[in-house]
Amino acid sequence: MNAQRRPLIAGNWKMFNGGPRACDLAAEVAAGVASLDRVDVVLCPPFTALAAVAAELDGHRVELGAQNLHPRASGAFTGEVSGPMLAECGARWVIVGHSERRHQFGETDELVAAKASAALDARLLPIVCVGETLAERTEGHTLPVVRHQIEAVLPMLERARGQAVVAYEPVWAIGTGHNATTEQVQEVHAMIRGQIARLSAELALHTRILYGGSVKADNAATLIGCPDVDGALVGGASLDARQFLAIARAAQTT
Ligand code: PEP
Repeated sequence: MNAQRRPLIAGNWKMFNGGPRACDLAAEVAAGVASLDRVDVVLCPPFTALAAVAAELDGHRVELGAQNLHPRASGAFTGEVSGPMLAECGARWVIVGHSERRHQFGETDELVAAKASAALDARLLPIVCVGETLAERTEGHTLPVVRHQIEAVLPMLERARGQAVVAYEPVWAIGTGHNATTEQVQEVHAMIRGQIARLSAELALHTRILYGGSVKADNAATLIGCPDVDGALVGGASLDARQFLAIARAAQTT
């Protein structure tokens, strides 16, 4: 953590809580966040719950995010949802390039960059996910893989002037209960910040880089305590308001 950057905790609900439970969970989180004034909190429910959760969060300090968008603003793309549509629903953020989309839906670095850029066009702030697979780490390719993923979004990061967020999520740590060590996390975060710094030292100072991968209440403080970690993107633990709020509390006190 660095005093220049306000911590951010984002909850990725994935394909859970698309119905009435979404509002209950959002209300529980919003009530808990009311007493936390030194951390930003974002909830990313499924598309079907966005409008209802937006209404639930109205007047609260919790912001709304989506989990994906199409790179075009409109068109004949059956089943897809665009940035302007997400903004109309009340979203301020959108996750792009999550590993489940890269690996299960074949999203390339170029498509991820196009989506992140489309998010800015729609006045949404992207949370761009990057990270290596277990095979890539085992073969010693972690840094080049992540560097290539970041390279694709550098123009977008420059355009976002420190408002866009990067999330380093080692694929092997997502939903597995296996955390990266603080040394592994800090090494990749420092590399990402250094890569951004070559573009602009000011931009690197202000861009928030989250860690994601089995973050829970009991390990959040340790992970977020790394110098270049500015918060967390939380999957499984974001479905439980008490766990998620404990992570947000850890972020604000770390
Ligand atoms: C995620 O889906 O972005 C994630 C980090 O999941 P989990 O916290 O469950 O590992």
